[in-house]
Amino acid sequence: MYRKAMYRADRMADNLPLLEPFTKQHTYCAYCPKMCRFSCPVSVAQSSETTTPWAKMTSAHHVNDGNLDMSETVAASWYGCSGCLRCRTHCTHRNEVAATLYAARAEAIQQGRAPTRAVAVLQEHKRRERNAALAASRLYTSSATDAQPDVMYFPGCTANVLCADESVAGWRATRALADAPVQVVADRCCGLPLLEAGDPNGFRRAATEALLAISTARLVVFLDPGCLHALKIESVRHGLTPPADRMIHLSELAAQHIDRIEPLPKPMTARYHDPCRLGRGLGVYEAPRRVLAKILASEVEEFHQCRHDSICSGGGGQLPRTDPQTAAAIAKNRVAQHAWVGGGNIVTACPGSARQLSKNGNDPVLSFASLLEESCREDR
Ligand code: SF4
Ligand code: SF4
Repeated sequence: MYRKAMYRADRMADNLPLLEPFTKQHTYCAYCPKMCRFSCPVSVAQSSETTTPWAKMTSAHHVNDGNLDMSETVAASWYGCSGCLRCRTHCTHRNEVAATLYAARAEAIQQGRAPTRAVAVLQEHKRRERNAALAASRLYTSSATDAQPDVMYFPGCTANVLCADESVAGWRATRALADAPVQVVADRCCGLPLLEAGDPNGFRRAATEALLAISTARLVVFLDPGCLHALKIESVRHGLTPPADRMIHLSELAAQHIDRIEPLPKPMTARYHDPCRLGRGLGVYEAPRRVLAKILASEVEEFHQCRHDSICSGGGGQLPRTDPQTAAAIAKNRVAQHAWVGGGNIVTACPGSARQLSKNGNDPVLSFASLLEESCREDR
């Protein structure tokens, strides 16, 4: 009894305030016999026990209780998460491991224990935001904004900077399908990099501005599932109230207007990679498959591990910037899965995933937005 009382007193003294809302989550893991041990792409790619969901959450639990020092090694393990949500799928409690680890990262940033590369993500964010806005201004001139916009299109920074063709293809497809004036919102960052790197206040500020920018729209169409998930789901966890019923992914818009989509002149085959935030994050599995089946004029091929059990491309959680080797190894594992079931074209509905899979494999990676644009040109 005495030992238990001491333990509780220590816990009160050493509690980490940013981790406080996630006490239930890390406590569940600390007392769990690692039921989701197999599920983590980071742990698998690193062949490491230290980065299993259980280990990352349990170390956060013990640091929170004051029974473990927040060493730089411990803090670094919290950055070994791509935010793929696969452990949640395999957890009886549907435990929010990624969100808990983001809070642990914020504690590490505050206490100066975060990895240098994570600190750099935060330090460079303003500059990257400016670069994204500049890239967007080149892609979208004032003519990209129709008069009296009714629908808004939110391409996201990654697409504007790194996948310009995909960004513009999504905009053209949105115009063709929405049958309404469309305004491009390309000068706002959803703030997800800040959340993932350990700055929840910065995320809240950025998400507030982004939500303000889209507040007047009847419908907001997102190209990047990461931006949509951040503004529709993560923002709620941070006290914001997004217009959730007016925010959809491009694939959902396309499924709603599938009668306006024409098959490509020649049937094609492609295997669909579920982006983590679109599938597990937002529950959108059927819309992209239905639309692709129509565009390709053939059944969409599947990975052995797909839908809720899909494996990540390694592009999330800031992993490509904080641990590029692990991010690449995860993508290579996914590409190897593609090869095992026959190879050929991969298609995905996330600019970041497409980039990861394309950089780490030899098979063509097709963009959902580009295929869609081909199939629903305004002049058809
Ligand atoms: S996420 Fe769930 S299954 Fe995985 S270690 Fe935590 S409590 Fe156990
Ligand atoms: S969210 Fe994905 S990467 Fe993060 S701990 Fe869970 S399975 Fe691993």
